[in-house]
Amino acid sequence: MPPQIKLRPIETCPNGHHFNTNAHGDTCPVCGAKVDTHSRKTQEELEKELTLKKDDWVCGWLVCTRGVNWGRSYEIKAEKNPIGSAHDMAIRVLGDPDIDKRNHGIIVYEPEDSVTTLLPGDSKGLVYKNGKVIFIPEKLQSLDRIDIGSSQFIYIALCSEQFDWKKEIAAAEAKEANA
Ligand SMILES: [Zn+2]
Repeated sequence: MPPQIKLRPIETCPNGHHFNTNAHGDTCPVCGAKVDTHSRKTQEELEKELTLKKDDWVCGWLVCTRGVNWGRSYEIKAEKNPIGSAHDMAIRVLGDPDIDKRNHGIIVYEPEDSVTTLLPGDSKGLVYKNGKVIFIPEKLQSLDRIDIGSSQFIYIALCSEQFDWKKEIAAAEAKEANA
């Protein structure tokens, strides 16, 4: 687990505005409504609401560089990230009819060795890495180009040899222990 994060006490007024009670007390700075500070959330509740689960931490991105989604980015998370247009795809690309619904391709981030791999999917469509069709898993490097359907993407690494969450947590814990 990462070291304890100190969160600011966030309150929601009856009109749905969020504000920091350390700065504004029990009065909403937007509409002036008062909140019942006795119902203030505990540190535990705040953590649950505001912190991402470790499984949801980003490990890299696909950035669309050609196609209808030009300029849009898609987060890559640990383990398998299937690509397709269906709602249950981790990387859901809409608007390109040449991208299959399910498993057109799969990007896998393996956290132990911090390696990201592109796999062909089990759908009809093909996947290309740097202009070449792939039939077996291919390791990805930052700035590799991936063609799927009529769209092109660039892979951008966050987790790789230079950075990964395991090392980052260990460094933060070591710093905390020495403080
Ligand atoms: Zn308000």
